[in-house]
Amino acid sequence: MRTGTIDRIAAALCCSLLLLVLTGCGAVPNPVADEARTLESPRPTDPEGLRVMVYYDMEGLSGQDDPDTFRYSKPAAYRLGRQLLTDDVNAVIDGLFAGGALLVDVVDAHGSGNWSEPDILLDRMDPRATAVFRDEAFRPYVDLVEPDLYDAVVVVGMHASTGRGGFASHTWTLGMDIVMNDMPLTETEIIGYAWGRVGVPVILATGDDRLGAQLAGSMPWVEYVTVKTATSASSAELRPVAEVHAEMREAASRALRHRDQARAMRIGEPVRAALRAVPPASVEMFRDVPGLDYDGDSVAFTAANFQAAFDGVIALTGIARFGYQQVLLESVRAHHDGEQIMADYSDRLFRRWLDYESGRWTPPEPPTPPADQRFFGSR
Ligand SMILES: [Zn+2]
Repeated sequence: MRTGTIDRIAAALCCSLLLLVLTGCGAVPNPVADEARTLESPRPTDPEGLRVMVYYDMEGLSGQDDPDTFRYSKPAAYRLGRQLLTDDVNAVIDGLFAGGALLVDVVDAHGSGNWSEPDILLDRMDPRATAVFRDEAFRPYVDLVEPDLYDAVVVVGMHASTGRGGFASHTWTLGMDIVMNDMPLTETEIIGYAWGRVGVPVILATGDDRLGAQLAGSMPWVEYVTVKTATSASSAELRPVAEVHAEMREAASRALRHRDQARAMRIGEPVRAALRAVPPASVEMFRDVPGLDYDGDSVAFTAANFQAAFDGVIALTGIARFGYQQVLLESVRAHHDGEQIMADYSDRLFRRWLDYESGRWTPPEPPTPPADQRFFGSR
């Protein structure tokens, strides 16, 4: 681990400890614009009952120790993953209704590559809850589906952030680490800051022990259910699933009852945002870009607010993914026709340039989605 990384983690830990001191016993610090973040009491609720948004990811499931279970391209394992996911979400939904929830909506936040339907098995999902579909594409973590509707957010099947030794630990995509105001953020915290903008807290999360440790520092009010102990990024020691589900039910009910002690999180503005990248990603190509602070494994900039910081970091991830091309090259070279494939690529690239310059080639129109296309988050 590089020294810079240790410094950043130390800074983030200090930050968490400071917040713990400030927020001990539910006291809320006065919002100060230049702090790394502020914690606020959640917005008032409708006395009728609580409306809950449930996000699910697919790496932090109970009964799951095979990374192929969250990949659409591995049909046999993926089938099992969908069942495990549905069982975890159903246990949480059951606990939420037992705790008095008025409404539970469910959004797919995983993106296994299954573009035709959400990863959850809709026909086996608890019918008291509703899967969210929209007519337009939306990014599940930061585009609030209905900002005024929900009182609380619950996240199921989550994972630790990049470099934390969790099962399939990552942030957003492979090898990326999203940092805001010196705090490396898990996806759970990203959701927290997105919903904190409208005063809505995250009240319950489920995932492995490593994510639990991260959230204990950064979101100590969150009810957390540890579903497994990570032994590497691709292996875990599992807990008995029935026991985990019983805990999920209880924790969901308890989280609803204690909702007012949860905190809505707001990131301090302006936001110092950074993308740190480790293999297979890389930020090497940002080395000489003016206006970006490059320090070897990360690149940083300042943005006005959470949304601008998030959009900027995600744009950087698009470029940091070029690190993945190294693996593509390795695959091609290892192929028995590798040399021929590389020669074809070189010729095609050369022709594309000349054809475009000569007006013989124009980029194809992006396909228009069918009029009845519905979007479910990761789609
Ligand atoms: Zn995720």
